[in-house]
Amino acid sequence: MKYIGAHTSSAGGPQNAVAEAVSIGANALALFTRNQKSWVSKPLEPKQIEAFRQALAASGIRPEHVLPHDSYLINLGNPTAEGLEKSRTAFLDELQRAEQLGLKWVNFHPGSHLNQISPEACLDLIAESINWALDQTTTAVAVIENTAGQGSNLGYDFRHLARIIEGVNDKSRVGVCIDTCHTFAAGYDLSTEAGYEQTFEEFGRIVGWQYLHGIHLNDSKKGCGSRVDRHESIGMGMLGEAFFGRMMRDPRFDDMPIILETPDESKWKEEIEHLRSMCSI
Ligand SMILES: [Zn+2]
Ligand SMILES: [Zn+2]
Repeated sequence: MKYIGAHTSSAGGPQNAVAEAVSIGANALALFTRNQKSWVSKPLEPKQIEAFRQALAASGIRPEHVLPHDSYLINLGNPTAEGLEKSRTAFLDELQRAEQLGLKWVNFHPGSHLNQISPEACLDLIAESINWALDQTTTAVAVIENTAGQGSNLGYDFRHLARIIEGVNDKSRVGVCIDTCHTFAAGYDLSTEAGYEQTFEEFGRIVGWQYLHGIHLNDSKKGCGSRVDRHESIGMGMLGEAFFGRMMRDPRFDDMPIILETPDESKWKEEIEHLRSMCSI
């Protein structure tokens, strides 16, 4: 079965993201658990934690179908000492918040070398950062999102994800999330049937299906290999309708959060219904 939702808003407290998910007919969701544009965020209040846990239980959405997304500022491969320390501290806070909320995953963008160190050194630094944060937490799983490869961002090649995982000591606490727009923009041609098969064959061989814990389901405004990250509404971009049908019928994506990050929030309810209707065709 497919668990489909969207990245809903935590404004006013994380419980509000659950309420919005319910209102669009979702059975999964993503959210920010802190201000995603700021380095420091007030700790979650016990009242907020309780409100979130109650809202989630009442919604029927299972914690393993909730995929918190970390702050965009965090760069676990930051080559500067100050930037790295700030990033690690903020990432640790993200993991701790997820644990407080009773959630399992924390989805993050791997990092950028900022043209100051080699991609390999940066990937190894990211793995070290993950180890540092996992050592100070108990249950949260670090879920690496593949990227479009804009600028000096790493994680656009499946081999990057594999190298980071390789460097993580506790393999049970690391995983990946595939963003379909990023995958396509990075040069994996998901828009054709042959390209779809080849991309996921490579994913299984290079990364491994056991590490896949979530999907960001987005169409792409830009072309395959453009390395430009511009999400588009489902079926309106260059991935096209047939791709989403293939994905919805593919049992390899059962039982994990499938999250829309499409630009027109007013379409989410309709997009979820549409995707569900494709599951059985
Ligand atoms: Zn992301
Ligand atoms: Zn994404």
